[in-house]
Amino acid sequence: MILAENHHLLLNGNSNISDIYSQNSDEYYMYSAIETAKLSRLYDEVPIGSIIVCNSTGNIISSAHNQTITRQQTCSHAEILAITKACDYFKNYRLPNCSIYSTLEPCAMCAGAIIHARLSRLIFGAWDYKTGMCGSILNLFENKTNHHTTIKSGVLEQECKELLQSFFKQKRINKKLNKIK
Ligand SMILES: [Zn+2]
Repeated sequence: MILAENHHLLLNGNSNISDIYSQNSDEYYMYSAIETAKLSRLYDEVPIGSIIVCNSTGNIISSAHNQTITRQQTCSHAEILAITKACDYFKNYRLPNCSIYSTLEPCAMCAGAIIHARLSRLIFGAWDYKTGMCGSILNLFENKTNHHTTIKSGVLEQECKELLQSFFKQKRINKKLNKIK
């Protein structure tokens, strides 16, 4: 309930993000990931967003939205793009002092990249029951593959889920309209 009211405030421009979520909280950063995800819709991409935060400074190092269609690249998931940018920033292929926030439970490819990057924390919003690799299908983080990343799920889950649901709902409507034409 509180979250819904908060978002109502945000949507109406009566408040801003730092008034609602305490700065540096997981909700604060997830909100940024959601804002990033919304950029996907401009390009008719599935709205998924990811950001990387430096644990020491709390600064957002990189952000990216899903761009597979725009780039015509299988690997251009939000997480991969955000990791690539953060590696460029630190000039390091490992990011042990960083956390990654994603609006959706990562797939196998992104979970693999998160493990290889040795990110210290993964925080995600909505579960992906079709391809999620943090427990939905498999959990790549729970066994010998990884000793580095801790996971927190369900942060602003409803908001992350609604973003995806409204996108696919609109897609279905557009499809029907095109058939009528
Ligand atoms: Zn992925």
